Amino acid sequence: MTAKALSALSSVIDPELRLPITELGMVGEIQEEPNSVKVVIKLTIVGCPAAQSIERDVNEALAAKFKHVEVVMTTMSQEERAGLTKKLRGDRPAKFNPFVEKDNLTKVIFVSSGKGGVGKSTLTVNLAVALAGLGQKVGLLDADIFGYSVPQLMGVNQAPTKVDHLMLPPIAHEVKLISIGFFVSDNQPVAWRGPMLHRAVEQFLTDVFWGDLDFLLVDLPPGTGDVAISLGQLLPKAQSLVVTTPQHTAAIVAERSGAIGLQTGQSVLGVIENMSYLPSENGPIEIFGAGGGEAVAKRLSELSGSEVQVLGKIPLSQGLRESADKALPIVISNPQDTAAIEIVKIVKKLIATPRGLSGKSLKITPS
Ligand code: ADP
Repeated sequence: MTAKALSALSSVIDPELRLPITELGMVGEIQEEPNSVKVVIKLTIVGCPAAQSIERDVNEALAAKFKHVEVVMTTMSQEERAGLTKKLRGDRPAKFNPFVEKDNLTKVIFVSSGKGGVGKSTLTVNLAVALAGLGQKVGLLDADIFGYSVPQLMGVNQAPTKVDHLMLPPIAHEVKLISIGFFVSDNQPVAWRGPMLHRAVEQFLTDVFWGDLDFLLVDLPPGTGDVAISLGQLLPKAQSLVVTTPQHTAAIVAERSGAIGLQTGQSVLGVIENMSYLPSENGPIEIFGAGGGEAVAKRLSELSGSEVQVLGKIPLSQGLRESADKALPIVISNPQDTAAIEIVKIVKKLIATPRGLSGKSLKITPS
């Protein structure tokens, strides 16, 4: 008789895999009596970082139903682990990119910009966290290989747990994260060229346990380099979100980053104008000028042959900058900030927008 113990244990969720431990083969032998229980819990790997929290949750769940509880923590055998990774992959082969499957429903969004410093990463992080806050299952892939900043912005600096060849992405503010920054020590620069870059981003898709996501946001490097092209090939159903400032010079370069997406087959989801204005008592002050967002949207509409809209304008915000420095996205730390309010408005549009259509024909002639 193990029903009472199993029902209690089914409420314990593995913090990395976000699934009940009863579904992960983590529950071993159970000795159940009316008032007492002894269970064996099998962790995925030796030194599992979630060991303590799992042990605590198991004890709490069982203590709610039994007077005497004994929990023995151990580790899965090699075969058990192989069985688990097979199950997590859904019986698909290793090295499989789930986002290209026909029935995959994840909205994949590339966040791109022409040049650096326009707030692309800060916005990507806030968009991801705001999406998760609205109940969406979100992954964030930091593909800005040379200028990775997602680990700092999300306050995570731990390598993913590896279960055989499957990487379990760290989770912060309910967003699953992967970044090259998790694999390099001491802020080392990454000096890679084309094929290595391609392999790295490919592994981020094939070797990471993303699970069923509603959204995968991809923080692209600024500009139109190798990574953007590789990812365009690896994620053909992605749509791109182009970030620009209102400044004319920024807009001109941002157009190019949207255009490269069109060339690799992505449709443009929209444009976000960041640092649009500085709110003041006497009305908005347009520090970086005006019109950049509209200019990019107009040009990308012409190039794509379908209407591209400015999805939102984010003001300059000291709070946004300060909260980014503290690794606490402003949509969480101060949701009343105008920048946070504007970000959440954009996120609601993203949720309402249908997924990109693969193979959609685009009126564009690569030059
Ligand atoms: P990118 O990813 O485009 O290189 P970042 O996200 O790193 O840009 O942002 C560049 C700098 O601008 C950071 O210091 C960030 O905190 C700041 N920043 C971004 N957006 C805003 C904004 N709306 N208001 C104030 N500071 C901002």
